[in-house]
Amino acid sequence: MSVRSVLIVGGGFTGLTAAIALAQRGVKRVTLVDRAPAWARVGHGLTIQGNALKVFQELGVLDELLAKGFAEDALTLYFADGRVMAEVPTPRTGGPDLPATLGALRPDVHEILVHRAESLGVEIRLGRELVSFENHGNEVSTLLSDGATEFWDLVIVADGIRSQTRPKLGISAERASSGLGIWRAVTDRKPEMTGGIAFPFEDDGGAYKVGYTPVSATQCYVFVLCRPERPQNGLADWEEVKRLMANYHGDFDALRESINASTFLNFQEIEWIFVDAPWHQGRVIALGEAVHAVPPLIAQGAAQCVEDSLILAEYVTQEGDLEQQFAEFYERRIPRIKGVVDASLLLAKWEQHPGTPDADAPRVMFESLQALVTPA
Ligand SMILES: Cc1cc2nc3c(=O)[nH]c(=O)nc-3n(C[C@H](O)[C@H](O)[C@H](O)COP(=O)(O)OP(=O)(O)OC[C@H]3O[C@@H](n4cnc5c(N)ncnc54)[C@H](O)[C@@H]3O)c2cc1C
Repeated sequence: MSVRSVLIVGGGFTGLTAAIALAQRGVKRVTLVDRAPAWARVGHGLTIQGNALKVFQELGVLDELLAKGFAEDALTLYFADGRVMAEVPTPRTGGPDLPATLGALRPDVHEILVHRAESLGVEIRLGRELVSFENHGNEVSTLLSDGATEFWDLVIVADGIRSQTRPKLGISAERASSGLGIWRAVTDRKPEMTGGIAFPFEDDGGAYKVGYTPVSATQCYVFVLCRPERPQNGLADWEEVKRLMANYHGDFDALRESINASTFLNFQEIEWIFVDAPWHQGRVIALGEAVHAVPPLIAQGAAQCVEDSLILAEYVTQEGDLEQQFAEFYERRIPRIKGVVDASLLLAKWEQHPGTPDADAPRVMFESLQALVTPA
């Protein structure tokens, strides 16, 4: 085995899945640090595509996830007035035995992963950051914010799109705006409502599009895609979301009406980054959103992150030269991630320019997911 001790920096989906995959494969000492002083149970929903479900199956958490979430095999596209535009089957990217997608609450997924990591003996230390690292041939030393200096065979950096470690790895790529912003909420849904997205007829100053994903029998996660800046129009957040959704009808009327002053809402500008290989310096390698993040227009962000973690764990737990293992890892990962990045950025451009000649979002969504049916 190339590595016997690993420090993971960041306890999001990337870091936790890396920790589980390594511990499962017999790495004796797996330690994960996160700067958060405690795990927060706030957050919204997420669409977990089949290829991510396949990773979760390998990590031994699939059944728990399926029990919490809501599985689907198709997406309904609507015109803003509520008429159905198309029923688009979603490719089963995790293979024929797994649902195409699972809607779930982020805190539920996170909690399941934390429990699994702990049950495998992963040591989790909260409220700590990586201050610096130094490569020394066959090992790497790290200094953490609590003052501890330790030695490891490998350090995995999974500290997200705002990674502070990325530049220390000699990576100069910067995150950039996608030109889009997004509001998110979790709200009630009618039991018969399955996942859907509605598109406007023209840019009318409201949302670029509105969608919802069931996350349980009674609730759904609603997202409202819009301009990247929150306008200073004097409206409270819930009033602004209702304004953006004003021209969306059919099932979207009920969703809009369910949003009120007590709904937990979150707005953020959507950024992206893509770093070509290499992602490492010596024995320190970045994974997940620290090196690739996309606008969530085919809902593949987290899926690509967890694929990174599982596949890297497969390589570094075999005998062999670490540099060679990294090279094989990149060869397998980069083209697949690049496909997701290119499709997501193209869709982001079309969102901002409704009516672009030859724009065909359903085709690009379908084809880019179909390309992922081939295992990672
Ligand atoms: C609006 C939106 C919607 C999305 N929807 C979907 C979806 O439906 N489906 C999907 O597959 N993907 C989706 N994604 C993408 C998905 O959320 C991300 O790809 C995924 O969560 C990234 O995981 P990560 O672990 O790499 O990073 P993060 O989740 O950002 O985790 C990074 C962790 O590192 C910690 N950290 C940061 N800095 C330090 C430090 N210096 N030291 C120690 N710890 C540190 C943080 O506290 C955090 O816990 C969406 C993204 C956005 C923005």
